[in-house]
Parts: sequence; structure tokens; C-alpha cells
Amino acid sequence: MLIVMKAHATEEQVRTVCERVESLGFRAHSMPGAQRTAIGITGNEMEIDPGSFDEMEGVQEVIRVSKPYKLVSRELKEDTTVVRFPNSDATVGGREVAIMAGPCAVETRQQAFATAERVAAAGARFFRGGAYKPRTSPYTFQGLAEDGLKILAEIRDTFGLMIVTEAIDNESLELVEKYADMIQIGARNMQNFSLLKRAGRTRKPVLLKRGMSATLEEFLMAAEYIMSEGNYNVVLCERGVRTFADHTRNTLDLSLVPAVQRLSHLPIIVDPSHGTGKRNKVTPLSRAAVAVGADGLIIEVHPDPDRALSDGKQSLFPEQLDQLMAEVRQIANVLGRHVAAPGAASERIAPQAMAQAARPSAAAN
Ligand code: PEP
Ligand code: MN
Repeated sequence: MLIVMKAHATEEQVRTVCERVESLGFRAHSMPGAQRTAIGITGNEMEIDPGSFDEMEGVQEVIRVSKPYKLVSRELKEDTTVVRFPNSDATVGGREVAIMAGPCAVETRQQAFATAERVAAAGARFFRGGAYKPRTSPYTFQGLAEDGLKILAEIRDTFGLMIVTEAIDNESLELVEKYADMIQIGARNMQNFSLLKRAGRTRKPVLLKRGMSATLEEFLMAAEYIMSEGNYNVVLCERGVRTFADHTRNTLDLSLVPAVQRLSHLPIIVDPSHGTGKRNKVTPLSRAAVAVGADGLIIEVHPDPDRALSDGKQSLFPEQLDQLMAEVRQIANVLGRHVAAPGAASERIAPQAMAQAARPSAAAN
């Protein structure tokens, strides 16, 4: 059930309604929107009597939510959620198309810094890079773990890029939430319900990737798990699904973007790197993703892709990222959206960046 407050309802009235919800043993999720605040109610396996709220001050109406997901639904919140980050003007879900770029994995300090310098110069606001890698084989590179997270934190301080990195279990999430700005939950963990609940209890935004065979409803229910624990800053990511097609690693399902936007207020970005698995297809599919209305892109880029420890075949050369950004910038403009100009993040802190990049390695090199 969902309680829609009047446009001019006071904070006090919203609080009183929330308290009534909680006193009945349920959980109240207050979602301020552009026009009015709505309060989602969860924890109710049984029906709630709408009569207990109808007459309360400030209440406009009480609505039964028709979908199995409640908090992710546009029924609860009409306007798209804009995810913000402390001490940064980067956003996901606003007018700016968010560009996240970086290597599949943090391999060495030198490799990560060399990539970050190019990512910042290209105009991206977010740096991606795994410190914990969910690999198909236990014998391949598993990531640098906390040493990798420390390198990522240094990259944030040096280049002003927001850090997105994956947590693969509850233990790594403890560390990732300490160092990163945004916690990635990977495709293989989309239905790891205990990890989703744990991610719901962190204060950092979560980037939730679609499982390789997940339906739209399963994907939204996974986001609902995170939100039901009180973390409302969730960004969805389409990264391709398994099909019989063998010309690409996965089949990038761009039709998911408008399908999500119709049903949910959560922002949705696209990963054309894992979505295609092939370097030569990443830029065309990035153009298409922005054209279809995605709120952002997450792109793998590496200074020496042929020697990458993971996903080299789908990683762009840094100059290809420059080209990609120039192209999607034009497409975004047609749609009344915006991609940050080259050098936007790096210019602000360039002198410090130069000094840091020149420093010899402290952690892994
Ligand atoms: C990744 O982003 O490097 C990754 C492992 O992604 P996915 O979970 O989509 O496979
Ligand atoms: Mn990868």
C-alpha cells in the first residue's frame, strides 16, 4: 500500500503518518517527489485497512499498489530518482548522462592511474575497476582485494572521479563501502538475496547489474530487496543476457531501458562492454544506448587491452573512449541531455593529479 500526501503536507504530518505505520508493525518509506511525498509501506504480508490512514491530516489518498514491487515502482514516485554523491556534482538519473569508465580490474597502481588519467580527461565522472572479481575460473586473476580498493580511493582523491567497484559477498561489501562511492552488485549476484539486503543497509548508492537470465520483474524485485532495507539510491544496469547468438558474448537488451523507465523511477544505465564482449561493438552500442534514453554508460577501458588480466577483448583503448564520448555527447544533446566536456573533472584538480601520478607505488605496482 502507498499513502500519497497532499502537495503542501508538512514534514510533521508526514512524520505522524510514518509513526502510525511503524506503530502497526510495518515499515514506512517516505519518498519526497517533485510534487508531493509518497509513503510506501512494506512488511505487510496481510492487507492493511486503508481506513486507518484516510482521515489523517495531510493525506491525499491511499492506494493499493498493483505490482509485486512497490518501492521501485513509478506508482510510488512519478519523477525519476536522481542519485547524488557527497562532495561531488556527479549525478545519475538527472539531465547529465553519467559516464563510468575504467578497467575491468585494478591490476597495478600504475595501470589504474594511467587509465584514470585518460578517463578523467575524456570527461567521465566515474571510475570503474574491480578489486574483487567474480571469475568463472578459480585459477584466473581474482583481484587485488583491499590493496585494489586503496588504489581506487587514491584515484578519487587525485582525479575527483567517483569510484564504482564490485562487492562479491558480505565480507567484501564491508570493505567496499568504506572505500568506494558506489557499490556494484554484479550479474552473478543479482539474486543473492542476503547480499542485496546487506547492500540495502549501507548508505552508499548501489549499482545493480541485471542477471544473465533475469526477467524484467526479477530485476526489479532484486532492486526492491535493496530498497526494502532503506537504501533508496539504486541504479539499474543492463549488461546483456544469454541467448543462442554467438557473434557477441551476451545479447545487449536495449529494449529493457524504456521498459524499466515505464515501470520504475530508478535510473538505468547500460554496459555495452559486457553486453557485447567485443571492442568493435562497444561504441556503436553506446550510441544506441544513449539514443534509447539510458541514464548512463559503464565502459571498460585499458591502457594495454591485449595484456589485460581480464576482459581485454572488450576493453577500449583510451583514444577510443575519447571518440565514444564525443559521439554520445552529440546524441545526448539531441535528447536535451548532456555529457560532461572533456577534461571537466581533471581540470579542477590537475596539479595535484600530476604530483600524485608521478609518485612511486606504495601498494601493488
Ligand atoms: C564487471 O563489471 O566487470 C562484471 C563482472 O560485470 P557483470 O557482473 O555484468 O558480469
Ligand atoms: Mn569485466
